[in-house]
Amino acid sequence: MTKLSRREFLASTAAAMAAGPFISTSSMRARAQESRKLGFAICGLGKLSTDQIAPALMKTKHCRLAGIVTGTPAKAQAWQAKYGLDTRSVYSYDTMHRMAENRDIDVVYVVTPNALHARDTIAAAKAGKHVFCEKPLEISVERCQQMIDACRQAGRMLGTAYRCQFDPHHLECIRLARERVFGAPNIIQAGFAIDVGEPGQWRLKRELAGGGALMDVGIYALQATRYLSGEEPVLVSAVETKTDPRRFAEVDESMVWTTRFPSGVVAYCSTSYKAGGIQNLRVNADDGWFELDPAFFYGGNRGRRSDGKEIRYPQIDLFAAEMDDFAQCILEGRPTKVPGEEGLRDVRIMQAIYESARMSRAVSLA
Ligand code: NAD
Repeated sequence: MTKLSRREFLASTAAAMAAGPFISTSSMRARAQESRKLGFAICGLGKLSTDQIAPALMKTKHCRLAGIVTGTPAKAQAWQAKYGLDTRSVYSYDTMHRMAENRDIDVVYVVTPNALHARDTIAAAKAGKHVFCEKPLEISVERCQQMIDACRQAGRMLGTAYRCQFDPHHLECIRLARERVFGAPNIIQAGFAIDVGEPGQWRLKRELAGGGALMDVGIYALQATRYLSGEEPVLVSAVETKTDPRRFAEVDESMVWTTRFPSGVVAYCSTSYKAGGIQNLRVNADDGWFELDPAFFYGGNRGRRSDGKEIRYPQIDLFAAEMDDFAQCILEGRPTKVPGEEGLRDVRIMQAIYESARMSRAVSLA
């Protein structure tokens, strides 16, 4: 990890001393830790990194851009110029092991195609870095487990970038569900669909994407049913359909699925690469309901409750919030609420959804 700069050390020490004569050395150390920013290296400089993650990093309180990993020299040059990075902060996918010598980098944020997440996470862990990885964690349970094992062996944290878990709208829905504000939830409905756009992209190739709409955006609906019910599904039943089998030859175009949870809560969900516009979440409970529509945007989500009240919060940068939280977890030595294991659970359920659709029967997860 990066050492504290002299200025950061003096500032935090002065703050600790000002707090009074009885402050312990360990709380001084804790405050010094809190005041420093962790260095993030972004691995994979595509659309999400360029348009969302890098700008969000500039807004964080506990993180700073300390490196990049790319296979494209022109991108490296552009990012170096834009963010003032020196050449020793630039890596290719083949030279990530050299990060071990770079104490400026604490965390690698993996933003490559789904099926490359294990490769990049394991390289980062071997170089002694914590890893924050985009969703889906990987394309199979086995690969997710390898990532978890690699980080554990290196003594580093692995986080899954589930931004909705930091959205105040979703957090409020979790509160309404857990506190039984409208009684016990009974049916949860969630859907997320987009128009995937150009043919030829990695999202339509099984080898790189692992799956289609379900792996890419349906995962948000699945996640929501788990954190809203607070339970793990025990049974799943799915139907897949393709209206454009040529374009979606390798991956799922549209999928609908239902899951049953141990308490009896049922969820029904949908996802598609051809039906942009579905973007919602609704919890029906014994004495009322609440919903978000839109539910899964980067910003602008909003919702309603059956008592007529709105669910609406000021927009925050979800990418900044999740990076700051991960950095604070590392600095304070506490677990993240989105560990690699959480990413693995969704991949396991998605594999069962695919199996159910393929076999035309319900699949038990118990
Ligand atoms: P993208 O295609 O825009 O970027 C992918 C990057 O990976 C590119 O820079 C590309 O050059 C690089 N790459 C390295 N090896 C590659 C290879 N063999 N083939 C293709 N590209 C390769 O994709 P993106 O939209 O930035 O998505 C990246 C990851 O982020 C995916 O896992 C995706 O699921 C996730 N994502 C998350 C969100 C979110 O809201 N959290 C949104 C979009 C994407």
